[in-house]
Amino acid sequence: MRCLLRASRIKGWRRHLDLPGSPDFSWRRERAALFVDGCFWHGCPRCYQTPKSNVEYWIAKIHRNKERDSEVGDALRGKGWKVVRVFECELKEDPEECLRKVSAALEARRPRRQEKEAQECSS
Ligand SMILES: [Zn+2]
Repeated sequence: MRCLLRASRIKGWRRHLDLPGSPDFSWRRERAALFVDGCFWHGCPRCYQTPKSNVEYWIAKIHRNKERDSEVGDALRGKGWKVVRVFECELKEDPEECLRKVSAALEARRPRRQEKEAQECSS
């Protein structure tokens, strides 16, 4: 993801700012946070399979993780942050789409800059 962000023109991110859930990447100015979630630990709907042993333990464990994810999301949104979450498999399969999600979140937070660019283009 780091390389991806660098390769695209997405800048200004910080790792693990002091925020709820300690997002993998965050943009303080745009107030946007990105989480790259492990498919197993975060119960990816496409990849997650409960291990064959200790089934109840894992179901409870992953359920708690997902609950925490949504609490973290609520906490961040409550502070006015935009939250983007991608699963590791999405990142592997379609990095472009993940980048689009990130830039869309960032763009949404940059109304003034967009206006300025639009003006520059039209003149
Ligand atoms: Zn997955």
